[in-house]
Amino acid sequence: MLYGIISDIHANQEALEECLQRLKGKVDKIICLGDIIGYGPNPNECCEMIRELNIPSIAGNHEKAVLGELELTWFNQNARSALHWTQKELSEDNKNFIYQLPNALVYEKFQIVHGSLINPIEEYMDSLNVAIPSFEKMAKNLLLVGHTHMPIFFTRKTDGNYDGGAITGDENIYLGEYDRVIVNVGSVGQPRDGDPRAAYGILNDEKAEISVHRISYDIAKTQEKMRNALLPDSLIERLSLGN
Ligand code: ZN
Repeated sequence: MLYGIISDIHANQEALEECLQRLKGKVDKIICLGDIIGYGPNPNECCEMIRELNIPSIAGNHEKAVLGELELTWFNQNARSALHWTQKELSEDNKNFIYQLPNALVYEKFQIVHGSLINPIEEYMDSLNVAIPSFEKMAKNLLLVGHTHMPIFFTRKTDGNYDGGAITGDENIYLGEYDRVIVNVGSVGQPRDGDPRAAYGILNDEKAEISVHRISYDIAKTQEKMRNALLPDSLIERLSLGN
């Protein structure tokens, strides 16, 4: 089965539309790894696109924050003011949708969580040291995570050694070569690896391979909406920089 993997959309409708356009008709199912909202100007539209397409999603830290389940003090000043704006903007219907999102999901051949298996909502899996305890808790050979907005993979080989690295460009990872693999396919709506293009993944669970793809979207349009919504300048600027 072919899965489209999207994560960290962050209310960026233009980036989400572009990714969905690419995935539509190409994959059997699309899965979302959380942070549908926060930072960007279209939280309702993004929730509704996910709901209309029946895309299974888990909760990220931004969903928890909007619901008041995670202290806003956890976030920096700019993220916090965008979250206040999102709280006011989100419809009751979409708040209810967010409220029922699970913290993790397990599929036949892989599992998904926003942060890590140690702390599903808050932990940034940005180094091998952070990844190692999650390897021990994996119920499947493949774990997909989001949260850092960085395309990266970590592996545990059959000899017990660990490896991994950043995923640059369109790259295939062959899962069969490893005992266990953790993959982050990057962020749809706010990439932070220096490449401003939206990122998504395609997982072929039968062939045991996963690939990351990048696609341009109308960044200026998203930025214009953010300016009109009076969202913080640094959040607007970082979209062009991909940082
Ligand atoms: Zn995020």
